Amino acid sequence: GIMLAVTACGSNSSGGDSGSSDSGGSGNGGTKVGVILPDTKSSARYESQDRPLLQKALSDAGLDPIIQNAEGDTTKFSSIADSMISQGAKVILMSNLSSESGAAVQKKAKEAGVATIDYDRLTLGGSADYYVSFDSNTVGNLQGQGLVDCIGAKPGAQVIQIDGSPTDNNATLFKAGALEVLQPKYDAGDLRLAGDQAIPEWDNQVGGTTFEQLLTANGGKVDGVLAANDGLAGAVITVLQKNGLNGQVPVTGQDATEDGLKAVLRGDQCMTVYKDVAQEAAAAAELAIDLAKGDTAAADAKATATSEDPTGNRQVKSVLLTPVTITKDNVKVAVDGGAVSASDLCSGD
Ligand code: BGC
Repeated sequence: GIMLAVTACGSNSSGGDSGSSDSGGSGNGGTKVGVILPDTKSSARYESQDRPLLQKALSDAGLDPIIQNAEGDTTKFSSIADSMISQGAKVILMSNLSSESGAAVQKKAKEAGVATIDYDRLTLGGSADYYVSFDSNTVGNLQGQGLVDCIGAKPGAQVIQIDGSPTDNNATLFKAGALEVLQPKYDAGDLRLAGDQAIPEWDNQVGGTTFEQLLTANGGKVDGVLAANDGLAGAVITVLQKNGLNGQVPVTGQDATEDGLKAVLRGDQCMTVYKDVAQEAAAAAELAIDLAKGDTAAADAKATATSEDPTGNRQVKSVLLTPVTITKDNVKVAVDGGAVSASDLCSGD
């Protein structure tokens, strides 16, 4: 433990400085590009990673970013978009709160001649010009395999699944990817599914109470928890702590948040999935520049992947990046990538 923790904590990284206030554009004279982040309660990533990294990637590209957080409110999401359109934004990047509300915003933007890019979450039935994300099916594969590796040889080990929001297409893909690994083990009896619940809006608190109920219903027995992200993992770990089970029951995660990485170093969380948001922000910024210039050929040349939108019955041109498993042994990778600064990670709180 300590040696490996020191390896991560001993490294230098500039990390992401977070600023949670909404920015109204820097007035740098560049083309205005709006970014709508979904909330602060589902993951720490949006304010600690996405905001500073998008701010940097878009400004470095000579664009003038306007970054706002919808705080989990679809009405606010839509009024932020209206205001960006009236401020003259040429492109809007958005991480939707639901496909339905996101699609309505995209329709309005299109009518106003504003291009949209689905940022991280695909809007089913939407009209985004492009989609930039990580391969979410692979994220799920890594979580499923991470859980299997952490449980080790334990025939019939009981697993509880705490899944992401039913209105987030990523959550559907994470779960499907995890089940590609876990379902054959459930079928063979190597593992037993002892509880499975999706958490509306990824609400961490609801995740904790739901896990507690599932644990109680299973007689207090659990050998591993598939938690869809670090926020939900943290809520699960709090319940395990109350029951004296933390550190003995592996829990998965995602996002390489400060709390998640600290839990990994403590041994309370067995893995997280690192998605290098700097790469995601850079890819989105590059597409935004092309779209601001109306150069769709250049954008098409970058968005060489496709994502299936079964609701809209279309393939969306995409940039899909590669996620990485982080365990105690390679926390340094996330620190070096800038997910968290070494000083924040290694501070006691
Ligand atoms: C993102 C995850 C995040 C989750 C909750 C997903 O759409 O891909 O990184 O943990 O939403 O915000």
